[in-house]
Amino acid sequence: MSFIEMEHLSHAYHAGDETERMALSDVSLAIEKGEFVAVLGANGSGKSTLAKHINAILLPTAGNCRVAGFDTSEAGSVWEIRREVGMVFQNPDNQLIAAIVEDDVAFGPENIGMAPERIRENVRRALAAVGMEHFRSFAPHLLSGGQKQRVAIAGALAMQPKCLVLDEPTAMLDPKGREEVMTVLKRLHAEGMTVVLITHFMEEASEAQRVIIMADGRIAAIGTPREVLTDHAAMQKWGLETPLAACLAARLLKDGVKLPHDILTDDDLICALTGEEPCPSK
Ligand code: ADP
Ligand code: MG
Repeated sequence: MSFIEMEHLSHAYHAGDETERMALSDVSLAIEKGEFVAVLGANGSGKSTLAKHINAILLPTAGNCRVAGFDTSEAGSVWEIRREVGMVFQNPDNQLIAAIVEDDVAFGPENIGMAPERIRENVRRALAAVGMEHFRSFAPHLLSGGQKQRVAIAGALAMQPKCLVLDEPTAMLDPKGREEVMTVLKRLHAEGMTVVLITHFMEEASEAQRVIIMADGRIAAIGTPREVLTDHAAMQKWGLETPLAACLAARLLKDGVKLPHDILTDDDLICALTGEEPCPSK
């Protein structure tokens, strides 16, 4: 059994005037425990709706969704699912509510009545996991965007989830903040966390093990970043940019430069052009 299983899942939003808007149509998908999956797609393609099914904020209007073995539509499984799956959203300012960082991180565990000793330990570990332990008594508004998002991630980690679902967590951050968040996510994944990252940034998607492309409420493509993101024509059709190195490689190929067809990262391109091996740190 996969950690996340969606079978023929559809979701229709009901507007006040009786009309329906199909945000997801017949989505079937399995995500394994410990996987790092990126979800891409144009605005309105259904990414956020998909994410909200994973921790039962939304329920399928047709088909089903199982998370950690629980059917999200079954009353009574919601709290189990929310302990397994932590959510992080785009705007850090909407997620941090307490006046100091460690109170914010403690909010979830306190809410479910965790023992104070355990809360303290979980908060300490969660802040260490995102490299924010030295900021534990800071006011969140004094932090940078990247630091705030790391605190928001710590808030999710304090519940000891097996999976993090992040809906464009870096969209409002500067490049440094984005890098901080990605470093944390890569480390958490290396330690066994299941990560579902919705992003607009191709460089972030390139870091995932699998990429899912959403288009008009359906899965348009699914595969490794190299399989999916280097398909210039398809990416254009889905309203997405190709990663810079892949885009450059496509142009050079067109101009007759001999290159492999699956160039994804800057390193790939540098190696292909110079014949040098990638440096060991990458
Ligand atoms: P994305 O995150 O990819 O931008 P969303 O999942 O937010 O896409 O939206 C998918 C579709 O559902 C869009 O057409 C959007 O307008 C519609 N939608 C999203 N939220 C609601 C809502 N609360 N009520 C009605 N329609 C919605
Ligand atoms: Mg969205």
